[in-house]
Amino acid sequence: MNSEELFKKSLQYVPGGVHSPVRSFKGLHTTPRFINRGKGAYIWDEEGKNYIDFCMSFGPLIHGHQDPEIKEAIIKALDNGWTFGACEKYSLELAEYIVNRICFIEQIRFTNSGTEAVMAAVRLARGITGRSKIIKFNGCYHGHLDAMLIKAGSGLAGTAEASSKGVTERQASDTLICELGDLEEVKKVFEDHKDQIAAIFIEPLPANNGLLIQDVEFLKGLREICNKNCALLVFDEVISGFRIGFCGMAGETGVIPDLVTYGKIIGGGMPVGAVAGPKKFMEFLAPLGPVYQAGTLSGNPVAMAAGLVNCKKLTPEAYARLDKYSENVVAIMQDWMDKNGFDDFQIVRYGSLFYPISTKDKLVRITQLPLNMNERFKALFEVFLNKGIYLAPNGYEVGFGSLAHNEEVQAELKRRLWT
Ligand SMILES: *Cc1c(COP(=O)(O)O)cnc(C)c1O
Repeated sequence: MNSEELFKKSLQYVPGGVHSPVRSFKGLHTTPRFINRGKGAYIWDEEGKNYIDFCMSFGPLIHGHQDPEIKEAIIKALDNGWTFGACEKYSLELAEYIVNRICFIEQIRFTNSGTEAVMAAVRLARGITGRSKIIKFNGCYHGHLDAMLIKAGSGLAGTAEASSKGVTERQASDTLICELGDLEEVKKVFEDHKDQIAAIFIEPLPANNGLLIQDVEFLKGLREICNKNCALLVFDEVISGFRIGFCGMAGETGVIPDLVTYGKIIGGGMPVGAVAGPKKFMEFLAPLGPVYQAGTLSGNPVAMAAGLVNCKKLTPEAYARLDKYSENVVAIMQDWMDKNGFDDFQIVRYGSLFYPISTKDKLVRITQLPLNMNERFKALFEVFLNKGIYLAPNGYEVGFGSLAHNEEVQAELKRRLWT
């Protein structure tokens, strides 16, 4: 069966044919490709056509598909069994490795996804402070937990409503929405909700609704506001962690959060997330503390073994190479786009994250994205797909560079674009 037939069949058994909405190619002319195999920077669909992959499973595969060392670690771990629901050495090794390399965390708790990590961080922040409200920014994504499926309300600054059916008004009322880049608004929301705000949650490099690069001064300002109000600053580094350097945006900017969440890269392509921070906060978690958090498959040896090798391979040299590769990839794309009817686009890049968008304006907030962006993205996506170049199938998603996008792949990208 080809991809189209498989998708048709999928629609019968699975809501919308997919197990995560962004995979559905909604709004595009073509049906999703069923991917059969990945190797290095390439994926192959059921028809046998291959693509240079710039989605990379939405970020986790920083070393490319089937990295041989990660594969070997997975196979080795598998040989001893894949889950025990008991203590085992790989999760200790990964915890020790990460804590020793990231100076501002002393303890880490592993989960199975980024969503779970953020869920734990929200509860932890509330448990530590004894307060119920949290601040979230318009345009940041933090997974699909109720507390975060909230958008700005139509009323006053800080008011909010659910962005999904099934999230109660009561939950929405505990999440206060602010605009990125606006410190004054954050200050006002703190004044309006004195001693009620447990934490500010932010993607320090917002990369789920375009790539909205923030001023370091803004992040520093949030740090100060949190200090003044005895609230926690939580960096959701599920996308930026281990990608913008090993220490993520916290390391990059020197703005130190109280808690940090990880996901995506941390498991080397296996389902892993984590919440981390100083001991004084992390020890609020059960079994030591009063904040409950758990997981049947959390810290399973296969995922932990993959994560460990994956992290050890992220050397300073690897980051320098990743940056160079990504710079080259973006230059090759931009050059072709400028000369082939996509000259209204810029490609915003930060390290190995890049975002083609049909405006030349500087983007800090989601409200600055151009109105025609979906139509323009659709056109670009389909041209690229036909040429054997796979972008994430949605105009709000960033592209992901990887260490597999080497000079050879860059030459192939250029060849595919120009033929
Ligand atoms: C992907 C992502 C999440 C959710 O992680 P899942 O593993 O998909 O649950 C949360 N926060 C950020 C910043 C993300 O990029």
